[in-house]
Order: sequence, then C-alpha cells, then structure tokens
Amino acid sequence: MPIDSKQPYDDGNIFAKILKGDLPCKKVMENEHVLAFHDINPLAPVHVLVIPKGPYVSWDDFSETASDVEIAALTRAVGEVAKMVGADAQGYRVLSNVGKRAGQEVPHLHIHIFGGQPLGPMLA
Ligand code: C5P
Repeated sequence: MPIDSKQPYDDGNIFAKILKGDLPCKKVMENEHVLAFHDINPLAPVHVLVIPKGPYVSWDDFSETASDVEIAALTRAVGEVAKMVGADAQGYRVLSNVGKRAGQEVPHLHIHIFGGQPLGPMLA
C-alpha cells in the first residue's frame, strides 16, 4: 500500500531496520550519511537504492529539515553509486517516489538508480 508522505517518521519501517542492521541488504556503499544497496526486487539489471541515514519520509521533509551536509552527501552518493555499479558509462535513470500518487511503499526517503539496459521514455 502506498504511504502518506506527510505521516510522521516510523522508525520501525523496513529501511530503518536495514540501517540498524536488523535486516540484511546487499550493500553497494555506505558513509556517515548515506547507505546504498541493491533493490531486493530489481526492475532492471542495475537497480540500486540510495537512502539518507536520517529519519526522512519525503523530499519536502528532507529539503526542509536535513542539514546541507546531509543533502550534499545524498546528492554526491547518487553519482558515486552510478559509477560504482558501472551504470555511468551508458546512462541510467534516477527516480524517487513520494507519497500515495507516486506509489511510495517504504516510508523512508529513497532514490532508485536504474541502468544496465535501454530504459525507454519512462520506467513507471
Ligand atoms: O519507491 P518505492 O517505495 O515503491 O520502492 C520501494 C523499494 O524498496 C522497492 O523497489 C522494493 O523492491 C525495495 N525494497 C528493498 N528491500 C526491502 C524492501 C523493499 O529493496 N527489504
């Protein structure tokens, strides 16, 4: 079920559990502010999620309350991860679902990186 992106942060959500080490993930990179891991249900040969470590549900939440350092770290991580998984050579797509209309399922802000194949005009 898509979530309401205005809901308060739920620290029992699945990505919070991954961040706490209570659930496993196939890690791509990690630093003080960001974790990146392979999506458990990949929709393309490359499908990686990049998440901030802080408790943010949506972009409006993140933009308003995250520090400049966290915002820079998340942005920087996207390009770094794309290179690490080899998606930069032939191109990739960056997508982030926010709230019900976009079909956001996990109430912790995340960025999808898709690559490894022609992606067409949109990957819905
Ligand atoms: O943007 P949306 O919220 O729909 O995406 C959530 C993503 O988290 C899905 O692509 C799903 O496969 C992924 N996921 C994951 N590991 C989990 C639970 C969900 O990679 N343990």
